[in-house]
Amino acid sequence: MIDGLVDILGLTARDLESAAALRLSAGAGIAPKVFGQAQREGVFAPERHVHLPATAAGWRAAFRVGLLTVVRTVEEINEAGPTAKAVLRLDDGYEVECVRIPMRYADDGSVTGWTLCLSSQVGCRMGCGFCETARMGLVRQLTAAEIVAQVVTARVALGWTTRNLVFMGMGEALDNVENLIQAIRVLNDDRGLGFGLDHITVCTSGHVEGLRRLSAQGWKRLNLSISLNASTDETRSRLMPVNRKTPLAELQAALIAYRPRRNFAFAVNYCLMPGFNDTEADAWRIAEFTRPLGRALLNLIPYNPGNLPLTRAPTEDEVVRFVGWLRTAGVAVRRRITKGRSIMAACGQLGNAELRRTGRPAPGPGLTRQALVHAVASSPEPTSIKDSPC
Ligand code: SF4
Repeated sequence: MIDGLVDILGLTARDLESAAALRLSAGAGIAPKVFGQAQREGVFAPERHVHLPATAAGWRAAFRVGLLTVVRTVEEINEAGPTAKAVLRLDDGYEVECVRIPMRYADDGSVTGWTLCLSSQVGCRMGCGFCETARMGLVRQLTAAEIVAQVVTARVALGWTTRNLVFMGMGEALDNVENLIQAIRVLNDDRGLGFGLDHITVCTSGHVEGLRRLSAQGWKRLNLSISLNASTDETRSRLMPVNRKTPLAELQAALIAYRPRRNFAFAVNYCLMPGFNDTEADAWRIAEFTRPLGRALLNLIPYNPGNLPLTRAPTEDEVVRFVGWLRTAGVAVRRRITKGRSIMAACGQLGNAELRRTGRPAPGPGLTRQALVHAVASSPEPTSIKDSPC
């Protein structure tokens, strides 16, 4: 809430109907129209739906639609298609990043489907050693409205319509679980954007309390992906401090307990880092970890060196060899094509360099639509960095 105004982007249609009935003396009946327009067009225009100016003024005195400011976008085009990153400014000046990733192709090679990778926090406190966001620490949680605002802003300001959403941007989504759950409710609302739960993926480094809370929602079709990244407690604790609190056996038990339906398929993300987690023995231990989960598909992600790399990127031969070991061990594996590495939009590369330096929001205005087009067209190396293989 800003200046006492409730942000409509953080509410479901039913929430807005209730809030309007409580806060307004007249005009609450237009809530469904106001909701649909806010979610789909990013517009707050109660005067279009009422006759009396005083009624519209009542709405404006109680509610707002908090779109984010587009600071800049950068784009990389490679054999995987065009991957674009947007830096979005929040009302208090902090910035988060979201990434539009091409996912499907028609026979002629054109992209037919996109995934939008969303942030859930400014920074992150999980401290993963390979992640740029980790270096910021946790600055603050995003509200449900700010999470939804990334989708709406990308749609209306940048024309990025997407079919799938994944919480794999800045932050550990389950460390902000209440706002995450509310944001998913809003995004899933048929009277607004109407994303099906099977088109939304929550990614976690292994936050088991958040996992239990998410499980309590009973969302059988929501996708879940786990950032594994190591096959022993020793290595995983080095790479991902969350493992000191929740070792692999405990994480495995939490995932088995989470499984929302019999044929549910976990996505398991594994960032291949030469010298850390790339031996044949690792492949066999991964198989031991995933077997009791039922269906699991391992996404193998070649490590993306950031500004202070832990190691180098694996060679093509190393990736192919590791995939072979995994398949021999019985692991269903899909190799992820690296997307967005040159614009620091790939896994492990999100984060805000300025924020890391100063601990404060970067100053200055955002871009107008016209200036934005220029910035995209002429963008040099980005100064902002983004993240994460959660
Ligand atoms: S990889 Fe994910 S959970 Fe780990 S520090 Fe980065 S954003 Fe946080």
